[in-house]
Formats: sequence, C-alpha cells, structure tokens
Amino acid sequence: MASIFSIETGRGNKILRTISTDVKKIDAHVKKIIVKMIKTVKKDKNACGLAAPQIGKNIRIVICLLGKKLIPLINPVILSHSENTNFDDEGCLSIPGEYGKVERWNEIEIEYLDEKEMKQKRKLSNFDARVVLHEIDHLDGILFIDRMTETHLQEMNSEKMKNL
Ligand SMILES: [Zn+2]
Repeated sequence: MASIFSIETGRGNKILRTISTDVKKIDAHVKKIIVKMIKTVKKDKNACGLAAPQIGKNIRIVICLLGKKLIPLINPVILSHSENTNFDDEGCLSIPGEYGKVERWNEIEIEYLDEKEMKQKRKLSNFDARVVLHEIDHLDGILFIDRMTETHLQEMNSEKMKNL
C-alpha cells in the first residue's frame, strides 16, 4: 500500500458528488484509512483538511486541522450554528488552482465519533469552523465552488492559499 492517497479531482467527479454513508464500525481497516489520510494531509504544506470522498471513499470521515492538530472526525454532525457568518477565501485539493470567497457560519457545535468510537462534542469558531464545514460539505457531495460568491484568481498568490 502506498503511503499516501491520490486525490480525486474535478467539479464533475462522481465520487466527489456522491453523498457518503456513515461508518458503521471503527475497525482496523478504518483506522488504517485514517492514518493514511493524515499522512496525505501532512504531505501538502497548504492542506488544512481532507474528506474521505477526496481519496475515493464515500464514507463519513474527515481530517481537520484544528488548532495545530490534525483531528479525525467520524460521522460528524452539526448540532447548532450561529446566525452570524463571515466570508473568507477557500481552496480545495480536489479543485486545484481555484480560490474564492465562501460564506460560512462564525460558530458551530458538532458531534462526532473519535477513533475509539467515543462520542465527542466540540464548539468551533472562525477558521476551525470553516475547515469543518468545508469538509462536511464534501461528505454531502458539495464543493466550495458551489457556494463561492466571487472568484478572484488573478489577485491571489496561490502559494499562500489554504487547501481544505
Ligand atoms: Zn475540499
């Protein structure tokens, strides 16, 4: 098995556009996928997250950079969110070279399973919330370009942009 996954790309990619199913059991196979997903994120210095559909698997697992740690969220659900929103730039490993402003909620509360199959709850704000919302969208077949309000490719230095 190669040490990292190759990334599914393209706005019309069938796997990226499919709604993923819940993980039923967090067994050795699932844990291996998580380890390899984390390695895949680490390989790209601008990457802040990765969702399983991006590596060709329609299962509800995402890896998110929260604070400075890459955290696996299994079967993540948004429990609540703030009314207020903010706009910021996003990019995506699956849509190389495109960046744009996306509106996201400022604060969210999520519930998910950790690798030990324990239920966890977490409140997130600003960029952390943005990363999680971008990744959960992937699980529902939604890409950031679907939510993009403006593109400004020319003014952007893609070196500095974050890929989610
Ligand atoms: Zn993405």
